[in-house]
Amino acid sequence: MNGTVTDYTYSAKRIMNLSGVFPSECSCEKCKDACKTPCLGTPEDIEALIKSGFGSRLAITQWVPGMLLGLTKEPILMIQPRQSEDGWCTFRTSDGFCELHDKGLKPLEGKLTSCRPKPRNWTIQKDFTWLIAKEWLPLQYTFRINLKKYE
Ligand code: SF4
Ligand code: SF4
Repeated sequence: MNGTVTDYTYSAKRIMNLSGVFPSECSCEKCKDACKTPCLGTPEDIEALIKSGFGSRLAITQWVPGMLLGLTKEPILMIQPRQSEDGWCTFRTSDGFCELHDKGLKPLEGKLTSCRPKPRNWTIQKDFTWLIAKEWLPLQYTFRINLKKYE
């Protein structure tokens, strides 16, 4: 299960409050087809996945939607779930569910995504996907320095 809001980390609660979007507990066929592009986690979500032994299912990712929306000048480097060779997120099970759901480890974007309409006062700056991506900005220097070592 996703847990109650009080179980969430400080950054997850801040993102929920800023975006006005909170987790939903529903489950139906439509969402089973939503896991092609892996959902985004905060650095804390990804740390929890690594600590739980899922590090080999993660990959360094360049998040480019921020550039397309004029929010960033460069891709945001982050670590996120891999996309499998079959085109689905590595954590999507063959019956269409999320392997991480019952473990409480689903990345925050996956917990907040639903078919509900956007909140009434939605702006791109309050969009939860953008707020999650922003959590990676303080780590960009560290990423780029470490990646340079392998060039
Ligand atoms: S982590 Fe789970 S919810 Fe997120 S895309 Fe993968 S299978 Fe879907
Ligand atoms: S968010 Fe919508 S589509 Fe997804 S499981 Fe819930 S009701 Fe179904």
